Amino acid sequence: PSRADITYFGAGPAALPTDVLEAASKALLDFNGTGLGIAEHSHRSELAANIINEAKADLATYLEFSPEQYEVIFMQAGGTGEFAASVYNLVGAWVSRQHAALKKELGDDEEAILAALRKKVETELKVDYIVTGGWSLKAYQEAQRLLGPEYVNLVADARTINDGKFGKIPDESSWKLSKDAAYVYFCDNETVDGVEFPAFPSILTPDADGNGPIVVADMSSNILSRRIPVNNYSLIFFGAQKNLGSTGVTVAILKKSFLPPHTVQPSAPLLRKLGLPIPPIILQYEIVAKNNSLYNTLSIFDVYIAGQVLKKLLKTYPDKVDGQQAVAEKKASLIYGALEAYPDVYRIVPDKAVRSKMNICFRITKNGDTDATEKSFLKAATVLGLTGLKGHRSVGGIRASNYNSIPLEGAEKLAKFIDDFAKSS
Ligand code: PLP
Repeated sequence: PSRADITYFGAGPAALPTDVLEAASKALLDFNGTGLGIAEHSHRSELAANIINEAKADLATYLEFSPEQYEVIFMQAGGTGEFAASVYNLVGAWVSRQHAALKKELGDDEEAILAALRKKVETELKVDYIVTGGWSLKAYQEAQRLLGPEYVNLVADARTINDGKFGKIPDESSWKLSKDAAYVYFCDNETVDGVEFPAFPSILTPDADGNGPIVVADMSSNILSRRIPVNNYSLIFFGAQKNLGSTGVTVAILKKSFLPPHTVQPSAPLLRKLGLPIPPIILQYEIVAKNNSLYNTLSIFDVYIAGQVLKKLLKTYPDKVDGQQAVAEKKASLIYGALEAYPDVYRIVPDKAVRSKMNICFRITKNGDTDATEKSFLKAATVLGLTGLKGHRSVGGIRASNYNSIPLEGAEKLAKFIDDFAKSS
């Protein structure tokens, strides 16, 4: 089949806009008449710096956050690397705050400060995780592995209210938040389980003066698809490979108060004395940010692709992310609507209140045989050019990933197929 015949519903890497890829294929051979391709130019060149700076500015414009208050950092860690980076950097910031407070209290007595700091780590250090699906579970486990389980508090585990399976978000009134956690972590959209937070958790909302918990979110699979209150977060991270661009670049949006001169990460000897993990230098936001994401070799090609996607979004939607959000909602309601019309055939996996607009997970059963029905659904879909619909290997079933690159017509085509398949014998 040719590219034009396929609507690809894969969960990531996702499809990219064809016109972006056409421009990129030219840029790979010769970037802007320089006689050298974009992947061959030095990451230290002026043109590389321009690509990085434009992508940073366009991201801030599209999501409407202030570049004065938030730094955008490009990394190569993947979402998985950011699970670790969030632990290192925000625990580091916690240590730094405690150290400064103790210095005020105890003056220059370094030994007394160290003893008090050790005590604080032992008795007060906590990081909080809300586990609502496979990815937040992995992040929670990474925090346990790096810090030790005694420091990691499970705020809520969605499986406990749903027969051991993901698919719901526990009511906020049941959340067990720590007092003054170094941070509270959640995954805004669970790619495997199809669970998305319907809105920012109200229990984590800052007060009128902007004071509130330090909130971290993984937005790998729903960034750029809906409006987010960036000001409520200290850190948002996401891999590019779903809604932003090609695999190979990861983005962190970090509140500048977590960077120098406001916060300086503790030194390696201090962390060693406190028994806390020492971050690899490449996961230290402070180092990467100071070098405008060029501490080491960055894939400028991937940043260029992300930049082109952002430019296309800004051109397509004069009202920025709100415009894309309206389309995403329309596409999701078409697909969910088609599934809901046949409750005897289709079972949508997550609870209605927390259904993801990006990853639509469902099971199909006819004549009592789910496996065979899903196989025949996938086969018939492929014939029509509807591909990438197989669910994640850990949960099975069907998953239609409704990322930004899926056009409205693509969602309509899938909705019609869902309808036709239910009616066919
Ligand atoms: N977080 C979410 C929500 C994801 O969907 C994924 C991957 O699909 C990851 C994290 C892991 O990302 P990576 O494979 O880039 O490490």
